[in-house]
Amino acid sequence: MAHAIFLGTAAALSVADRSNTALAIVGDATTPGLLIDAGGDIYPALCRAHLAQDELSDLFITHTHIDHIGSLPSLIECYRLGGRHAALHIYGLPEVIETAREIVHLFGYELTMDTWTFEVTFTTVEDGQQLSLGGMPATIARMDHTLPSAGLRLALPGGDFTYTSDTQPTPAIQRLGQGSRVLVTECTYLNESASFARISRHMTALEAGQQAATCDVETLGLVHLGVAAGWSVDAACAEAAKAFSGTVFAPSDGDTLQL
Ligand SMILES: [Zn+2]
Ligand SMILES: [Zn+2]
Repeated sequence: MAHAIFLGTAAALSVADRSNTALAIVGDATTPGLLIDAGGDIYPALCRAHLAQDELSDLFITHTHIDHIGSLPSLIECYRLGGRHAALHIYGLPEVIETAREIVHLFGYELTMDTWTFEVTFTTVEDGQQLSLGGMPATIARMDHTLPSAGLRLALPGGDFTYTSDTQPTPAIQRLGQGSRVLVTECTYLNESASFARISRHMTALEAGQQAATCDVETLGLVHLGVAAGWSVDAACAEAAKAFSGTVFAPSDGDTLQL
């Protein structure tokens, strides 16, 4: 059975007990697994989850904000020093892959990948594209954020899983996530800060609940938690529950969800 591991759950500001949002989706022994985003303390989080070497074949980078891509060179170097041998396949929108290549190139003096024990590949994906990610059938959708950002839906035996990445409310969420069993979405603000959510094209907890209701999912997971002063997990879950009658949860770093 597949499961999601919440490697990080914070928004752009990491704090002592929460790093930037990243997820691993792991299936059975025949499924190589998927890493979503590479910001924050991604490699230590993979170590804690026992996924730090060849376990995850694919990396999907949702967009190029620092909290989602900023640790890519460090991740690649740690994989090398940690003894990785399996190829690492990096996927993202064309704008994302362009930046990913540039970042890796900037560190080229250190990331001399032609002499490595594993291969790194870059592949662009587009809105509506269907492909296999981490050995799982996936569908990609562009979201509505301050930079090009993409979410994805994974077709899994226990019910589909949709992750929006960073976005403000958009019909694309319903098109992507309708009828999924689980929706995981960002929740950077509470409703009292809705004006900031619009400026930065993020979501409030209330809006996350509304999106979950629109998509008719069973379970809503809140990540990308805006853990600045005045924010609380309990308040976010309660706010989302005003608009959504299913299960709402906000994981801590390292938590696992059966899919
Ligand atoms: Zn972010
Ligand atoms: Zn962002």
